[in-house]
Amino acid sequence: MSATTTSTLTVVISQAQGRNPTKRRLEEEIAQTLLAEPGISVTLVPHLYDMPQNHSGLQFLREVRGDLVVLGWLYERAIRWTLDRAGIRGRLAETLLQAADEADQSDDDDESEAGSDSQQAAGIGSVDIPDRDLWCIDFRASEQCQDFVSEIRRLRDSVQSTSAAGFDLLSWIGGNPSAEQLQRYLQPARQLEARRNFDGGAATLDDKAVLPEDTGRRWYPVIDYSRCTNCMECIDFCLFGVYGVDALDRILVEQQDSCKKGCPACSRVCPANAIIFPHHKTAAIAGADGEVGGLKIDLTRLFGGDEGESALEMAVKERDRELILDGRDAVGMSVGIRQRHREQMDQLLADLDALQF
Ligand code: SF4
Ligand code: SF4
Repeated sequence: MSATTTSTLTVVISQAQGRNPTKRRLEEEIAQTLLAEPGISVTLVPHLYDMPQNHSGLQFLREVRGDLVVLGWLYERAIRWTLDRAGIRGRLAETLLQAADEADQSDDDDESEAGSDSQQAAGIGSVDIPDRDLWCIDFRASEQCQDFVSEIRRLRDSVQSTSAAGFDLLSWIGGNPSAEQLQRYLQPARQLEARRNFDGGAATLDDKAVLPEDTGRRWYPVIDYSRCTNCMECIDFCLFGVYGVDALDRILVEQQDSCKKGCPACSRVCPANAIIFPHHKTAAIAGADGEVGGLKIDLTRLFGGDEGESALEMAVKERDRELILDGRDAVGMSVGIRQRHREQMDQLLADLDALQF
């Protein structure tokens, strides 16, 4: 019997950045508890967003064939579309464990046609979706290990997982485990390896699978294709070569690491609010459901911004700042701004004038 069959639910824990002890404790507690659960295999990988495309953690995820649960310190949308960019896909399945603002959004969607559902229908969608379920769970949904374990048990039961052999795999791919963590996690893994070898099982853990692999903090846009209309405004706007197109002429974040750290400029000009920067301080830009701003009216920014700038003005300012830091000339509104944006800005200013009598 193989280690992971389609009847086994694979759970991948994407670890938090840094060394926050509370987050580590929660991750470890969940992993340890699930280790004893039949029909579930558990793997820890570094922070999902930080892993380069050739990282062994992403390679592991690509090899998972069956139903998959990914837990991470990111909004559900950010997890889903970061995975998608890495070619890790599935039918997005609903989890009952949602961060508070995601749950609020679901309630709103029940009452209204507006919101993320309508945006999803407008997007070009994903491609090559395999026949399996994918659950993305934001760790911020709860501080209680038991909440995650109960939900994962429910998901395991829902896919009618029957792991008759009753052994589970815990591997540590990458990350920076402490000595104590290594001892605690690798010991069961080695016992498992010995047991498989003894049983003549096919799967073994080689040393490479448990060696830490560094991941620095990264910053790049993630496209939500359920919203993206492939309008190409982002590729026009970005002057740093981040965007490209794939073989199907779909917009693609091609050169992730060419993006300028801390700059979210293109998310503000995307008309579909489809560009996510998972670590941006503004929840909507970081992937919470709802409106981002873009050129739609973002009242917080409009009225609360330092100089009352619109989203477009802010985006242009942010882009100019990065150009200057690169030793290039600022371009202002003269490059990559479509006429539609200008018209919308004029309309917005006219609306505001009217509001002020
Ligand atoms: S601007 Fe937004 S909707 Fe248009 S191609 Fe880029 S991500 Fe997609
Ligand atoms: S944030 Fe700036 S540098 Fe990064 S992709 Fe968008 S426009 Fe380009």
